[in-house]
Amino acid sequence: MKPAAFAYAKARSVDDAIRLLGTHQGEAKLLAGGQSLIATLNMRLSHPSLLVDINGVAGLDGVSVKDGTVEIGAMTRHVTLERSSDIAKHAPLIARAMPHIAHPAIRNRGTIGGSVAYADPAAELPACLVALDAEIEIAGKGGKRAVKAGDFFKGLFETALGAHDVLTAIRFPAAGAGTRVGFAELARRHGDYAMVGLAAVAKANGKSLSDVRLIYFGVGETPVRVRKAEDALARGSIDDAVKALDLDPPSDIQATAEVKKHLAGVLLRRVAKQLMGDA
Ligand code: FAD
Repeated sequence: MKPAAFAYAKARSVDDAIRLLGTHQGEAKLLAGGQSLIATLNMRLSHPSLLVDINGVAGLDGVSVKDGTVEIGAMTRHVTLERSSDIAKHAPLIARAMPHIAHPAIRNRGTIGGSVAYADPAAELPACLVALDAEIEIAGKGGKRAVKAGDFFKGLFETALGAHDVLTAIRFPAAGAGTRVGFAELARRHGDYAMVGLAAVAKANGKSLSDVRLIYFGVGETPVRVRKAEDALARGSIDDAVKALDLDPPSDIQATAEVKKHLAGVLLRRVAKQLMGDA
């Protein structure tokens, strides 16, 4: 199928993008890597009257690490994150997740900002950002604001972004000496969206864990944190963590609720071993 007709404008700056978004009564959309947006246009699931291209806007891409904080510009491509030595060293959870995101051709164009703004409930990066307790920087008509990842994802494909907002950057603490991360997902084919996935961060001292954060994806409308399982894992018992898994996943085209719940337990065992240094 072909998309419905739309106008196109290339933004010169973030302020210009915000201005352009305001010109079409909420009917304009930003174009980043286009890997999700163009597919929705072609399938006529979305019909914006204007696409605002932010690919040429300076200062929106790149990875930096300063004073213990990792900052990633919204237009940073997946492939850049996948190959970045700073990400490998200071954000190992993101490094582990990257190869699971789609295929190389899509990772060459897709951006972290697009992934987070699109907020697919089965996507890897939103869950990783909640696990990392990241802050999402948003520029809008009233200036800049920061929203915690845990508050950013509001519902199915719904976020804290308003119609005239641009997601500009993502920040989170760099991994420290005692930081361990865990990541696992089950997908029907490599590169497909996950049936169920789990992103995790903890402080580790040998096998003993504290500050455990376990965030599932593909099991609800947003990334889902499982606090009772986190507490059980911090007490040292993987079996208790699996028993405490307070998840209520809906059935979808990928799997039934029962299968998803079972797979969530399987993933928890794998990820718990990674956090404890056994895998
Ligand atoms: P676009 O498609 O350009 O934009 C997506 C949406 O976000 C649009 O509504 C756009 O207006 C908005 N947007 C973009 N940038 C901003 C911004 N800076 N501020 C505010 N709003 C913005 N993703 C996964 O996570 N896991 C997968 O396994 C996976 N598999 C895929 C398989 C296929 C076949 C395809 C086509 C895509 C897949 N994706 C997957 C999606 C891919 O990661 C996309 O790149 C990503 O979701 C969107 O990024 P983008 O830069 O292409 O955004």
